Amino acid sequence: MSNPQDNAGVPLLDVNRDNAPHREEFIEALTEVLDSGRFLFGPDVVELESELAGYCQVDNVVGCASGSDALLLALMALDIKPGDEVIVPSFTFFASVSCISRLGATPVFADIEPGTFNVNPESVASLITDKTKAIIPVHLFGQCAQLDRICQIAGERDIPVIEDAAQAIGAAYHSRPAGSWGAIGCFSFYPTKNLGGMGDGGMMTVPDAGLADRVRLFAGHGMRPRYYHKVIGINSRLDTFQAAVLRVKLRHLGDAIDGRTAVADRYDRMLTDQGMVGEDQITLPTRDKNAFHVWNQYAIRVGGERRDALRSYLAERKIGSEIYYPIPMHKQECFEGTPFRHEGLEETEKASLEVLNLPVFPSLIEAEQTRVIEAIGSFYSSAASRAAA
Ligand SMILES: *Cc1c(COP(=O)(O)O)cnc(C)c1O
Repeated sequence: MSNPQDNAGVPLLDVNRDNAPHREEFIEALTEVLDSGRFLFGPDVVELESELAGYCQVDNVVGCASGSDALLLALMALDIKPGDEVIVPSFTFFASVSCISRLGATPVFADIEPGTFNVNPESVASLITDKTKAIIPVHLFGQCAQLDRICQIAGERDIPVIEDAAQAIGAAYHSRPAGSWGAIGCFSFYPTKNLGGMGDGGMMTVPDAGLADRVRLFAGHGMRPRYYHKVIGINSRLDTFQAAVLRVKLRHLGDAIDGRTAVADRYDRMLTDQGMVGEDQITLPTRDKNAFHVWNQYAIRVGGERRDALRSYLAERKIGSEIYYPIPMHKQECFEGTPFRHEGLEETEKASLEVLNLPVFPSLIEAEQTRVIEAIGSFYSSAASRAAA
């Protein structure tokens, strides 16, 4: 854990610092699981599912082993198979797409909006064919994709929407929570996500009870009753230790989101006040006025082909930053030779060259943000003086 007071650097993320205030609560909750011996299917799992159903305003929540499994299980429950097409943005994490390929179906890559980095609904609409069997919008960086328009486009053709809400627990669109819009919402409890566990975990929000039951069937070896297998499912469980940790963290999730929002607001203000915003310099993340953003990432654009230079400059000064994502999915080696379809992904390719993610986590303090901003400022003033020389 870094000391926020020392002048060393600024971490991209400090999970230990975020967790430290809740240490006693974690130990109490984990001790209870240890003493119960119910490491799988313990009472915390049931309680967490019900608490998260309330939080996401859906009737059914099904825990599973990861966000990646949630996406795979969603497609399995919807019977996605070879020959089917599934529309997904190319500008996303691998797991949004691998679930499609793993079932032998064909990913069809949609382009994104330049401001929010989220999938462009009109691009989605243009890619629909008779074979389209699902649409996966990704709520990137903690801000929902345009769910009203996407659900309208999908609804006109009875195509199910699967929300990849791995980065967006607590987010909303038109005040309706992420995960409550589509047929299934997929969430991750990977430690860096807004509701992060101490290991892997995930869940699905499923408004329809029948579909929720089917998802649960697939997550439990397709077995019902015991040793009678109705479908070829997988083994994907949220364990009781993770559920116990997540119940503690869920109690503090609202505060964590407030903390992230304060950090994002300060970046917007500081970058603007320091005169760093401009086409050749930095573009701030676009805030969709219909969205409640939960800031899992603070993603700027760096213009003038200077993104990598800025990132190296920050790294030399021990300031963390990351590129989510440097290689769009349609350019990944592993998908070469497998069927996929794409056209016109200009915004995706441009974003992968310009995006830069700055440190954002609830316990990041203002003095650290000031150091980030000062370093960016000195990068531009030295770049400017180099250009003038
Ligand atoms: C993290 C993430 C996932 C996968 O979640 P895991 O729990 O790591 O398997 C899927 N999609 C997106 C967009 C993610 O950010």
